[in-house]
Amino acid sequence: MKLSNQNLVKHRFKVSDWQATIILGLAMLSLIWIFTFTKEADDQQLKSEKAQSEINSLGEIVRHDIEKTVQDVDRVLKFLRRTYERSSYVADWPTLIREDFAWNARAIQIAVIDRDGRMIASTAVPNPIKPIDLSDREHFKWHKGTQSDELFVSRPVIGRASGKWSIQFARKIVDAGGAFTGVLVVSMDPTQMLSAYERLEEFAGFGFALLGADDVIRAGAGTFSKKLGQAILESQDSSVIANHGGASIVRQTIDGEFRLTRTLPVAGTRLSVLVSIPDPYISVTKLWTSLYTPALVCSALIFVFVGVSVWRQRRRHRQIISLANTDTLTCLPNRLAFQRALADHEATGSSFSLLLLDLDRFKAVNDTFGHPVGDGLLRAVAGRFQNALRSDDRLFRLGGDEFAAIIDGELAAQDGYAIARRLCARAAESFMIDGHRLSIGASAGIASTSQLTTAKGLRCDEVLKAADAALYAAKSSGRGAPRCFDQTLSDTQARKQRLSAELTAAISGDELEMHYQPKVKLSEAGDSISYEALIRWNHRELGSIPPPEFIALAEESDLMVPLGNWIFDRVCRDVVRYGIRNPVAVNCSAAQLASDTLVAEIDRLIEKYNVSATQIEIEITESMLLDNSPVVLKQLNALRERGILVALDDFGTGYSSLSYLEKYPIDYLKIDKSFVSRLAPNGSNAVVQAIVALARALGMQTIAEGVETDMQRQTLAALGCDLGQGYLFSRPMAPAQLWKDGEWKQSRQFLTIAPTSVHQDRAA
Ligand code: C2E
Ligand code: CA
Ligand code: CA
Repeated sequence: MKLSNQNLVKHRFKVSDWQATIILGLAMLSLIWIFTFTKEADDQQLKSEKAQSEINSLGEIVRHDIEKTVQDVDRVLKFLRRTYERSSYVADWPTLIREDFAWNARAIQIAVIDRDGRMIASTAVPNPIKPIDLSDREHFKWHKGTQSDELFVSRPVIGRASGKWSIQFARKIVDAGGAFTGVLVVSMDPTQMLSAYERLEEFAGFGFALLGADDVIRAGAGTFSKKLGQAILESQDSSVIANHGGASIVRQTIDGEFRLTRTLPVAGTRLSVLVSIPDPYISVTKLWTSLYTPALVCSALIFVFVGVSVWRQRRRHRQIISLANTDTLTCLPNRLAFQRALADHEATGSSFSLLLLDLDRFKAVNDTFGHPVGDGLLRAVAGRFQNALRSDDRLFRLGGDEFAAIIDGELAAQDGYAIARRLCARAAESFMIDGHRLSIGASAGIASTSQLTTAKGLRCDEVLKAADAALYAAKSSGRGAPRCFDQTLSDTQARKQRLSAELTAAISGDELEMHYQPKVKLSEAGDSISYEALIRWNHRELGSIPPPEFIALAEESDLMVPLGNWIFDRVCRDVVRYGIRNPVAVNCSAAQLASDTLVAEIDRLIEKYNVSATQIEIEITESMLLDNSPVVLKQLNALRERGILVALDDFGTGYSSLSYLEKYPIDYLKIDKSFVSRLAPNGSNAVVQAIVALARALGMQTIAEGVETDMQRQTLAALGCDLGQGYLFSRPMAPAQLWKDGEWKQSRQFLTIAPTSVHQDRAA
């Protein structure tokens, strides 16, 4: 179960697609709004300048116009008065006021009021039956009450004679002694006085007003047309923004609207002309004509676009994440999700128990029935495991036939064991897949954080290693039973780590050596016909380390190829040094056979030590052939070409798929020790018999290993086994001992004991 610690590292910060979209969106919005604001500010500046120039020129025009009207009216009044004075203060008013010169198009009527306020003549009512009393009228009262000879302009009133809105332009008349004798009045239609400006479309929104000293509107147009008689009071927030020809431009609110106004005095009167236009700065009603509208629309579109994109990207992201975390075959969370879960535990420090499960005999099922059946079996196993766990326990498929379960919280050792046993039991029940009844099993290793949390905190990789060690122990101590992590495993783990670390030094140092064990002919006891080279590690502190232990470590840590090369080199050196002519068989591991440098390395050593290729033999195991690798076939054929013989080690213990025996160039079958130790002199010994028959049929020879007793030797010989190897003949020995007199020879003692040894003791 290879899970490296670096897989547990956290992810670095990285701008994701959706964040990039948001940044892009914000950048676009900023650009749009910066452009809009600058453009609008420029526009506003232009508009403001235009408005000021408009209000200036309009002001002058209107003032000029009003001054002309006022002068016209005043000329009439003055002329009437002059005529009255010239005719010795006696006038035929009704006739006089109807003269042509008195006519003004915008005048409603011309009237004369006597000193008591009675209207004595009027163009509107030529011969009043009953004099109309106007003594209460403003213009009468003003003239009567003052010495001043000004032109008085009244507020708008509904005329009593005309019945229409009118403003009165009035001048007083006096007799020869200077005493007040009445008032001459020209009533003007206030709605007509400024109407010319109203009709022009370009003045829409403009306001024109003729104001008295009291700020009451005498005549109005545009926005002031309906405000006759009302006062325009300067608002609180008014501010002067420019000054032109003594009349300043003021910004102020009028009827809740920001407007620019300019007030110009009308010469020779107390009147003034007010021109007002909407303030271009804040003409909210015209917002839609500005750039703000397209900017708002664009912003809204960008918002919608960014929103939709981000939503879709996030959704896709979530889908990818969930796909990346799911095993497509079983739909369980996968190895990546498992690593994430461990990293989460490490980050939060929350305790958990970890169960690692590995199926037994799954590979055989896959090889025998094919991948579809294998896949179906994995799905079925996943389903059973899932059903055997509680809903909040998390089950993962780590790959191949490996599963893991994380159980949150502290779990008592016996409870963890019970869960693991339940899962193993469920895996051991037979499966029906595609019509095949399949029986497999599972091994489990359990570890929990409570066993491994140190002062430094929770280390999830330690928990993982512990569970892995427990699983390894469970597998090697017979399948089908779970194993909990404990101190002995911890010691095993520690020893494993130490040996792995020190193996490299051992290869280049002097702790390793090769021992050799003879193989002899069983039918005719005599000399050794070949040897097997077996490696020894004499650790300076730990003593002799069993080869299977460190060979396995070398395989796990990529040291097997250098170690294998060292072995070949040492064997060739010993062969030359001791003048050995018989072949020496070298055990070759899976990693060496799978690396395509094996043959080249052997060639190199043959040349280096000047030995014959036929002096080297190779021992491989069945499992190395099961992968069906083209490299293995190529290398074995290359060895055969060189005359290097190949033995199949531990034959009979592994797999019963024998097709490879025909496919690969194999010369010997080595009958495993376990069959030899079970031999009985009068038993059927069927396995050994079958292996011998099979080898003969395929043109191979057989070697029995682990021959310890003479009975075994005799039985093997009787069964037709070709060669034997074992303590009976010789233990594996250091070359200096084994070959002190040249090639090894069988001892006399052994030859005399053996009943079948009819041959001469050549050593004698
Ligand atoms: P193997 O290849 O099956 O080697 C035979 C093992 O049986 C050797 O154990 C040998 O000492 C032992 N043996 C020989 N005669 C008898 C006997 O009469 N009775 C019993 N009980 N055992 C006997 P050893 O040397 O401990 O090696 C064990 C395994 O380690 C080997 O099994 C082989 O798989 C591996 N190994 C040893 N040396 C090498 C090596 O140089 N290269 C590689 N790749 N593997 C090696
Ligand atoms: Ca061997
Ligand atoms: Ca063996």
